[in-house]
Amino acid sequence: MLLGPGPSPVPARVLRALSAPLLGHLDPEFLAIMNEIQQKLRSVFLTSNQLTIPVSGTGSAGMEACFVNFVDPGDRVVICIAGVFGERMRDVAERCGAQVTAVETAWGTVIDVQQVVETVRKHKPKLAAIVHGETSTGVHQEIKSLGNYLAGTETLLLVDCVTSLGGMPVRVDDWKIDIAYSGTQKCLSAPPGLSPITVSEKAREVMRKKKKKSQSWYLDLNLVEKYWGEDRTYHHTAPVSMEYALLEALNVILEEGLEARWKRHRDNHLALARGLAHIGLQLPVAPHHRLWSLNAVSVPEGINEAGVRRQLLRNFGIEIGGGLGPLKGKIWRVGLMGHGSSRPNVLLFLAALEKTLLDHGYRFSRSGAAQAAIESQGPSDPAP
Ligand SMILES: *Cc1c(COP(=O)(O)O)cnc(C)c1O
Repeated sequence: MLLGPGPSPVPARVLRALSAPLLGHLDPEFLAIMNEIQQKLRSVFLTSNQLTIPVSGTGSAGMEACFVNFVDPGDRVVICIAGVFGERMRDVAERCGAQVTAVETAWGTVIDVQQVVETVRKHKPKLAAIVHGETSTGVHQEIKSLGNYLAGTETLLLVDCVTSLGGMPVRVDDWKIDIAYSGTQKCLSAPPGLSPITVSEKAREVMRKKKKKSQSWYLDLNLVEKYWGEDRTYHHTAPVSMEYALLEALNVILEEGLEARWKRHRDNHLALARGLAHIGLQLPVAPHHRLWSLNAVSVPEGINEAGVRRQLLRNFGIEIGGGLGPLKGKIWRVGLMGHGSSRPNVLLFLAALEKTLLDHGYRFSRSGAAQAAIESQGPSDPAP
């Protein structure tokens, strides 16, 4: 059972779609599937952006595509960093030759939007990049106010939605996001291998005016969009089976409905938090900044972090994640993503964790985490 930071469990329908016979990547039937994927991705991103496609490659390929198509050597960019994925964006931007100004904050806390606004005012960067759901820390970053500010400037807003899309509200048009990327193996509940991205008209203009050809031929959106657009010019062979899987995953999402899906993620996150609190475990992120799809849990004093994870996997077949960077050994990362965000998974995980902690000598003030999770909404749950 995949309850880590991704990949997440994939519904049987999506796995079956993977096994369908291949079509040629220029077959009219496949071209119709591509159109349907684009249209359904727009519905999930809540955007009308024409340029909305799955990049071939995992989330990091999407991240890279969102830099190499916009940034020329010497361009100023602002990167917000509060975890692994902010750090990765800086690395990618620097490889494009960008002059990076970082807005950094402690891992496990949110970026101060006012500080980003002031930095943008001072440096007038070509783009400002921020992570919506920082999977390395479990922090949810508010985006809308930054989008509102940047919309009145020349600066593009680039947002990493890998761990939030399909699990928490992501409203590309409403929040005035110019460029966003995600990944299939988190809350979209497909296997890893594609990275949906969306690009606003404002950003497309910047892309067309880029001075130097993109350093990546493979990720050059000017070329890729000719295949996904009306020209249907061969660029690279579409990963046909993964496109089938993505389409079926999008069908599953739209049948459930975005609002219902977000609520399911929220409810299961809150149930998990209640169960953990009941047995005295702490969630290090402040309640209103918690991701619903990825829960950071503090490892209690004296407990072997990796030992607990090993035992959960060996005895219960449950995978969770450990901490990265400064959080290594200090937190567990429990993913409740997409298809994996269910009440039975929460209960099984809590019961397995409780038993495992007991074996590791953890002293409980009280037991019954799973029981506490199913009780109705707790007094400390934040308002919807
Ligand atoms: C997983 C993840 C990525 C990278 O995606 P890969 O599919 O591992 O390449 C980027 N950003 C965030 C926030 C992620 O959680």
